[in-house]
Parts: sequence; C-alpha cells; structure tokens
Amino acid sequence: MARYTGAVCRQCRREGQKLFLKGERCYSDKCALARRDFAPGQHGQARKKSSEYGVQLRAKQKAKRYYGVLESQFAKYFEMATKKSGMAGENLLKILESRLDNVVYTAGYGMSRRQARQLVLHRHFTVNGHTVNIPSFLVKPGDVIEVKGSACEKIKENVEKNASRPVPMWMSFDKDALKVVVNRLPERSEIELDVEEQLIVELYSK
Ligand code: SF4
Repeated sequence: MARYTGAVCRQCRREGQKLFLKGERCYSDKCALARRDFAPGQHGQARKKSSEYGVQLRAKQKAKRYYGVLESQFAKYFEMATKKSGMAGENLLKILESRLDNVVYTAGYGMSRRQARQLVLHRHFTVNGHTVNIPSFLVKPGDVIEVKGSACEKIKENVEKNASRPVPMWMSFDKDALKVVVNRLPERSEIELDVEEQLIVELYSK
C-alpha cells in the first residue's frame, strides 16, 4: 500500500499552513512551521507570484496532504465526487472525511491521521462487527465503529489526551464503550480543512 515516506513537516511548510500531521508536536513550539515559516528548499524564502494553475495545484496538494492520500487515489475520489449529486468539491471533501482513518482520528483514537492509519492497519477496529484494516474504507451513515477486543494502551492514552477535543455532530462517540456511530455525512461547515475546494474542481476540469 503506497504512502508518502518523505519528511512530514516539509508538507506543511510547502503549503504554508499547519496540516497537523504529527500529533502533539504540532501543538508545541517544536512545530517546524512555527520555527521556519517559509517553504522548504533553496528558493523557499523567495517571494513568488503564483499563477492560476499554481493556486489550484496548491489547493489540491493541501487537501491530499491533510488526509494523507496519494495522487491516484485522490483522482479516484474526485471522479466519485463528480458522479454524485451536488457540488463536486464538497462531495470530494465528504468522501475524504468518511475514510476510516479520518473517522478514527476525528473520534480521538489517534493523535494524527497518520497514527490513526497505523491503528487501522494493525486491525484495532471493527465496522459493524467486522474487522476492517483498510484505512481508505469509506464509512456510511449508520455504520458503527468499535475497538476490537480490549483497547491497547496507546488507544486508551490517546482517548484520554483527546477528551477535550470536540467530536463533530455527524458522528457520536461513546467514550466509555469506545464506540463511534456515523450519524450522517458531514456538512462542509463541519469540515475543518481550510481550502477552497472549488479550486480543486477547476484544476481537474482543465
Ligand atoms: Fe505540520 Fe505538525 Fe510538523 Fe508543525 S509539527 S509542521 S503542524 S506536521
């Protein structure tokens, strides 16, 4: 299963925005973006005027990196989004939000989406009673996500640490039973990613 293996913080620096890819470190003064708030590389500090294409590309890259999705899968999600009714950009974000690794992260089981992905890969979760170890599995309204067997120390620790993190209304999280119920798909206003999704649509429509 392909995944990005390069330096994680470079991605935030490239996008000029915190993408919260490293969990607790992102909230500390060790955050690379807080220390070096400019793009990586030799010309990272040079002022550049972006073309229309450049702006659209950055929007797409930001969304890809935020959710930890590679290009081919992202393109497939876009295709899926265009086939649904409604606005393609919003549909795309809803699809990305409904990935199992994102749901696991959003509930607070993982400190980052990367860590949530690892937990899913290590078979820690069931969906509707069946073990699912596919981070890209798309949940749908009514699905119940539970921790398989007794939760490992890492999951318990993360849930405690994230106790104050609000869980969006589109899902319910029972902290004692370690059970998530997907009530519905999220509204755009409930998706935290700060991106103009229309730019992604324009990019793929070229
Ligand atoms: Fe991004 Fe987190 Fe690294 Fe900061 S610490 S640059 S928010 S991944």
